[in-house]
Amino acid sequence: MRKDLPIPNELDRWIRQRGRDLRLRQSDRKHAVKLVNNLRKDLIKFLKENVEQPFFKDVSVLNSGSYYELVKINKPNEFDIMLKLSTPRIIWNSLEKYKGLFYTISLHRLPRGEIRAFLVEGGLMISASKIMSEMHNLIKKFIKKHKVPPGEGHWVVCRKKVNSPAVTLVFLDENKKVEVLSVDIVPALEVPQGWPEAARTGLGVDNWLGKNARRKLLDQPVYFVPKRPKTRNLTNVEKESWRISFSHIEKEMIRFHGNKKVCCEKKEHECCRKLCLRLLKCLIEGLKQTYPDKLDPLCSYHGKTLFFHNLCARPEDSLWTPGQLSVCFIKLFKDFEHAVNSGSLPHFFVPDHNLFSPTSFPKRSLQFLGNALQEQRELGFPLLRIPDPIPAICDNPEECDTVTYESGSLYQKFIKLTVACAVMFGAIVCALYVKT
Ligand SMILES: [Zn+2]
Repeated sequence: MRKDLPIPNELDRWIRQRGRDLRLRQSDRKHAVKLVNNLRKDLIKFLKENVEQPFFKDVSVLNSGSYYELVKINKPNEFDIMLKLSTPRIIWNSLEKYKGLFYTISLHRLPRGEIRAFLVEGGLMISASKIMSEMHNLIKKFIKKHKVPPGEGHWVVCRKKVNSPAVTLVFLDENKKVEVLSVDIVPALEVPQGWPEAARTGLGVDNWLGKNARRKLLDQPVYFVPKRPKTRNLTNVEKESWRISFSHIEKEMIRFHGNKKVCCEKKEHECCRKLCLRLLKCLIEGLKQTYPDKLDPLCSYHGKTLFFHNLCARPEDSLWTPGQLSVCFIKLFKDFEHAVNSGSLPHFFVPDHNLFSPTSFPKRSLQFLGNALQEQRELGFPLLRIPDPIPAICDNPEECDTVTYESGSLYQKFIKLTVACAVMFGAIVCALYVKT
């Protein structure tokens, strides 16, 4: 068995400090949450009353309530809202190459309702691109009418992105003209007839959350979001495909994450699981900022997936007490490094789909990532030591390719310089050491 070396004091101190920073940052989200809740409420009202496009009238919000998972760590004011569209009974077909992640969705027979406008020409297949376009148009119309308290700022709809299942809105501060928060609105089709075969064997949470909890999670519907594979040269059919989404279940697992029900309910039952996830996401964001081109396929969903696997492997609450933050984080990190080096990270819900397979994550990038992680570990995680990097990452793998970067930003240059200095310093020390 691999023996873990003790964590150097200084590193332990840094990890704790970073943990505290992340905890603090969460607390100034209240105002943002209020703005987003208002937006959501008004948007639903608008869609329900819209006579021009009645298909969206039966829309409902998934995960209603004011709970939003922290999607992006360094920019906590990023929200997502999933809008459930109601459809008649559907037939799904998995796209062979993508092992249970992408599907085409069709209806049994030609329906009477408004959904007819969203079928692929001359067929029964529901067109992901048509739904996305209409959603975008509707939100543009809505935002013109939506009111926010005077003087606070205004909402802007971002341009459509080919591979994104979301319509993104940003809120600009009236005075400072800066982006204060952003919201991704994602339409989703509910799968009424249970989970697709490929997802039935995943979700191995028996030891962690218990068999009962697993059954309850499996009873929940899953959703399809309008998102096609990122690969080039897609066929016309593939261009209209949907991606299976478990984000509502992921949210629930992160929220109720204990082996025992009391976990994190009171101060004395606190654990460090969520903080570990945030640290890992933070590191991933930092890496993407530093190497935007080379690590383009990387996204925080890789970290989240690894996190779920790690929770299953270390289920007991007693292993995650706040005092063990550094130990837990290092274990999580090492598991991540191992997954990268072995090229194997099964999707948590669709285990046949390997998120690190060459079709999903090119080998060269994966190798580069392996080296970057090793470097981080050997240098004591310099990326965790820098407060407030500029964020540029999304949480869902379906969003991976919509990332925009500020290439050549000061932050990147700073990181590169820091790493270079550390390497040079190491080399000098080594040289001196060898000499003596
Ligand atoms: Zn807990």
